[in-house]
Amino acid sequence: MEDTQNTEVKTEERRCTGSALNDLLYCRNFKSFRNGIVYLLYTEDGYPIETTDTFLPYYTKDAIGKKQNKLISKDAGSRKERWMIGVSVMSGCPVDCKFCATGKLDKWRKLTAGEMVAQVKYIVEQNSNISPLDSKEFKINWTRMGEPFLNITEVKKAIKVISDKYPNTHHYISTIGIKGADYSWIEGNITLQFSVHSFDEDYRNWLIPFKGKVKLEEMGIVETASNLKTTLNLTMVRKEDFSITEMQRIFDKDKFFVKISPINENDVSIANEMGSGIIEQQNLI
Ligand code: SF4
Repeated sequence: MEDTQNTEVKTEERRCTGSALNDLLYCRNFKSFRNGIVYLLYTEDGYPIETTDTFLPYYTKDAIGKKQNKLISKDAGSRKERWMIGVSVMSGCPVDCKFCATGKLDKWRKLTAGEMVAQVKYIVEQNSNISPLDSKEFKINWTRMGEPFLNITEVKKAIKVISDKYPNTHHYISTIGIKGADYSWIEGNITLQFSVHSFDEDYRNWLIPFKGKVKLEEMGIVETASNLKTTLNLTMVRKEDFSITEMQRIFDKDKFFVKISPINENDVSIANEMGSGIIEQQNLI
């Protein structure tokens, strides 16, 4: 499940030197941002994957307490503070959300646990001056290409390998809410995020045209044993997609946390006349 919240300051784009990462993946290209890098990797059989490596100052973790998430200076922090790796669980995606370019790739396939772990290994190797064990926060966001719960056996295997090596890892799994999904294993340092996007079910069905997803009411009864509340991600296209009444009716504020994200503008969102959605200001960086 691609997380649409991202950085936006582009500073550099170039091809990787030394393309082979390991036996499983190859690096073709990357772009550097003020607070991280996005990599275009390829599987051995030629499928593209996006993996992100970002960081932030530690104080941004308390955006709720501070009631805003602006950086207080030009210092964008470091991987020693908050280090986030965004992992793909598929190349391409069969869900085909209306604002996402991933669903429009010519072909798609699920990645193996080894290919997921290899993405993390590669990012860690690129930053040999710091161990994830020494970061104040080390987070794996299962939010890049693909829907994790359509490849959940491999995702769970990869989570175990990563957590065995770095026990301080916080895993953050984003899903559209697949029918029949088992959330009983979401506990401790593993947290769930639901892609809500609209409280209008008809519009949500158009936006996320995957028949095997649950309705919002079914999300509202999900309980996990995570250390953190389940996040409701709202990538809002229209103002009318938000409904405080529906939100209060369906979701318990003691179990759910709301995040509002912009669309990462791309050819598909532009073609569907959404652009970057209704978010006018991003206040992180
Ligand atoms: S098509 Fe939807 S589910 Fe698939 S990667 Fe894009 S946003 Fe995520």
